[in-house]
Amino acid sequence: MKASLLPGEASLGVMGGGQLGRMFVHAAQSLGFRTVVLDPDADSPAGLVAHQHIRSDYLDVAGLTLLAQQCAAITTEFENVPAQALERLAQTRFVAPAGAAVAICQDRVAEKAHFAASAVACAPYAVIVSEADLLAVGDDLLPGILKTATLGYDGKGQVRVRSRAELAAAWSELKQVRCVLEQMLPLALEISVISARNAQGEIVQFPVQQNLHIDGILAVTQVPAPGVSAALQEQALASAARIAASMNYVGVLCVEFFILQDGRLIVNEMAPRPHNSGHYTMNACDLSQFDLQVRAMTGLPLVQPRLHSPTLMLNLLGDLWFSPAEPGVERTPAWDQVLALPGTHLHLYGKTSARPGRKMGHLNITAASAEQAESVARQAAALLG
Ligand code: ADP
Ligand code: MG
Repeated sequence: MKASLLPGEASLGVMGGGQLGRMFVHAAQSLGFRTVVLDPDADSPAGLVAHQHIRSDYLDVAGLTLLAQQCAAITTEFENVPAQALERLAQTRFVAPAGAAVAICQDRVAEKAHFAASAVACAPYAVIVSEADLLAVGDDLLPGILKTATLGYDGKGQVRVRSRAELAAAWSELKQVRCVLEQMLPLALEISVISARNAQGEIVQFPVQQNLHIDGILAVTQVPAPGVSAALQEQALASAARIAASMNYVGVLCVEFFILQDGRLIVNEMAPRPHNSGHYTMNACDLSQFDLQVRAMTGLPLVQPRLHSPTLMLNLLGDLWFSPAEPGVERTPAWDQVLALPGTHLHLYGKTSARPGRKMGHLNITAASAEQAESVARQAAALLG
């Protein structure tokens, strides 16, 4: 792509209609872009707010052809969009990220090879495709975590194992699909880095995010990261930049890291799109991760984003829609009381029904200090609990 696509003129497309697509659509629309979403679901959160919703399967040729006809550039919000679909679109349109980069992020085996090629350390691991691989696993990988090579998310598609017997049982439980077994690492904490890179190789990054997961799902993100030294933050930012550059990545990329109890930085996994841990940017930075997704795919200038407030994000899972006293009855959480707290910014994704564990929205809290953000978060959690 040579010239940039100008706000108020072009149409932008997104593969996938989830909440990430919805927030992309909002960011694109605020610049005056026309937006088109391709997703099979009639009630998809992004399809509901886009100018046009192409309701088709991700590999449907007619749907892909229509998307390409309608849009000057296309992105994805969902890493499991088949890479072939992106490659097909790329025959006629600018697609960012490219299918080849998405294919690496879709497969834990390819992803780990890419981390190694980028000189960023990941957990010791073995690839399991056969019984022989299972038998050949070194003792150093136990206890470990067996993860499916593809399609895992929010802690799904993975089983923790302590012994060879548990490993064999876990592989059967995962239907003996291609897996990686990772050594269980002693984590001190988890962080992530969101980068945006354009076709000229220019890169900008948000500050390091500190993330707390509960039951495998992101629960809280804090920025600035309270538990991470400046040196480790610099190392994480540099590592993420190398990972993006070495696959010539264009778009927004999130890289998740572990910090081990001995202080070492280890890369975990990456997502070829904006990320739940970057939702705080919508209120705490002068440009959000979705603004940068729009800029990277259109060739508009990538400007270094600035964090203007200490912030804390609380993920809002469907569990909050049910009170422990009446577990079967859906209710609306006390948003009016939550919004009375200073610095609260509520984002709901327009999902038609709540389910425990389902991501329904997030609450960004901005404050003059990290302590104040934490104090408001505790009050909000008490009101929602
Ligand atoms: P998902 O795709 O579900 O996010 P992850 O690979 O990020 O899968 O694993 C989910 C969570 O499990 C991580 O955020 C971390 O808390 C824990 N975890 C994953 N791998 C390891 C590991 N090798 N050692 C210790 N904890 C891990
Ligand atoms: Mg993860």
